Amino acid sequence: MYDVIILGAGPAGLTAGLYAGRSRMRALLIEKGLDGGQIATTNEIENYPGQLVDGEESGPTLIARMTKQVEQFGCERVSDTVESVDFSGDVKKVVCTGGAYEAKTVIVATGAHARPIGCKNEGQFVGKGISFCATCDGFFYRDKEVYVVGGGDAAVEEAMFLTNFARKVTIIHRRDELRAAKSIQEKAFANPKIEFLWDSVVEEVNGPSGILSQIIVRNVKTDELSTIEADENDGMFGLFGFIGFLPNTELFEGQIEMEDGYILTDENMATNVPGVFAAGDLRKKSLRQVITAAADGAIAASQAYKFIEAAE
Ligand code: NAP
Repeated sequence: MYDVIILGAGPAGLTAGLYAGRSRMRALLIEKGLDGGQIATTNEIENYPGQLVDGEESGPTLIARMTKQVEQFGCERVSDTVESVDFSGDVKKVVCTGGAYEAKTVIVATGAHARPIGCKNEGQFVGKGISFCATCDGFFYRDKEVYVVGGGDAAVEEAMFLTNFARKVTIIHRRDELRAAKSIQEKAFANPKIEFLWDSVVEEVNGPSGILSQIIVRNVKTDELSTIEADENDGMFGLFGFIGFLPNTELFEGQIEMEDGYILTDENMATNVPGVFAAGDLRKKSLRQVITAAADGAIAASQAYKFIEAAE
């Protein structure tokens, strides 16, 4: 029986693991993939306090330090996929592919995933021209053309990163102004490799050879459709989606109170289920950043500790 099981090793889960380990709770961190969650595929970190300076900090470098720090304080870990949970009793049950675990408290920190672009034929071209990770796939588009959907911080920052590879990057945005922070916008407007397609959404994608080579775009003001074809010499191009995220909370449906898929908590990260806490991007909150995820994880772990103390 663990004191606390932490689901997910992004910044929220890792920080919860650090705080749980430091308070000498018997803690288990369960992660199915690589540590870091969304930040593991983020090329540049500019706003996490205490980060390495001069462009030396990436998602992976920051996460590697967090992981090491968690290990130092004795939080146990297992690499496994959660299949179901039962939070109804005093003993919380977590069933994974490789085994079942029990704890007095649980911290849910399973994060979020990229929102699909939402166009016709999208599923056929994911990994064959469509991507949601510039760090992972940007290299494939060396000297090719790339299209980026979105107008927030992620879309504009990742578009700039993609100019390291692509000869031209076109941002397709559904409005005529960006949502991204002004400082990020200024850099993008000054980048000669970046172009903009305003008031536009991607309706359909195609590629007769199985690789993406055609995008049909609709102007939301005029409803006019236009077709973008890959350059003849390239025969293909990249389409990256950065239009926000959806919470990874399906497993907890019917057990924890949510709104639009986001878990509701109080300021102590407590959900409506006693002994179950939530931290990070899957919470309903106003700012989803590494720093707020880390803060959530710290609060959740210290509240889990207090919960156990009060119950004993
Ligand atoms: P976001 O800020 O929610 O922006 C999403 C963008 O996608 C918006 O421009 C939105 O258009 C557009 N969009 C949403 N749904 C769409 C759809 N169905 N079709 C077409 N376009 C759609 O998301 P984000 O950029 O991924 O950022 C998420 C969070 O991470 C934010 O809090 C952001 O500040 C943070 N972040 C921060 C940094 C940084 O600080 N350096 C870097 C990356 C991300 P509208 O503008 O019209 O709504």
